[in-house]
Amino acid sequence: MGVHVKATCSECLATHATNLEFGQENIRCPACGHTMNNLPEGELNELETVQKKQRLQCIIALVCATLATISLFQWAFTMKMDDVTIWMAGTIIFLLGTLICGVLGSLKRHVVEF
Ligand SMILES: [Zn+2]
Repeated sequence: MGVHVKATCSECLATHATNLEFGQENIRCPACGHTMNNLPEGELNELETVQKKQRLQCIIALVCATLATISLFQWAFTMKMDDVTIWMAGTIIFLLGTLICGVLGSLKRHVVEF
């Protein structure tokens, strides 16, 4: 599956998005052909773990956004006054969840310079 990063070449300063695979020997610049050894396995593992966590946070953010939308419609169209507060609170809580998980999920972007 590999680790998705942006790689910046130190020779020509071109930046390209690439997938660093485990077992892949070199990182190669598509513009000028400059190559460097791939990152050590430990570092790749670390990056992969961070990216998996971010993917999970983005999924949670999407689920929260869906639940917030449902709560919002319930809040807008409910007739019973007792339920209004619950749906309003639900909307606010799920919106906060969307915001927090969305920010956490997109906080780190990895750039490799070689
Ligand atoms: Zn280059």
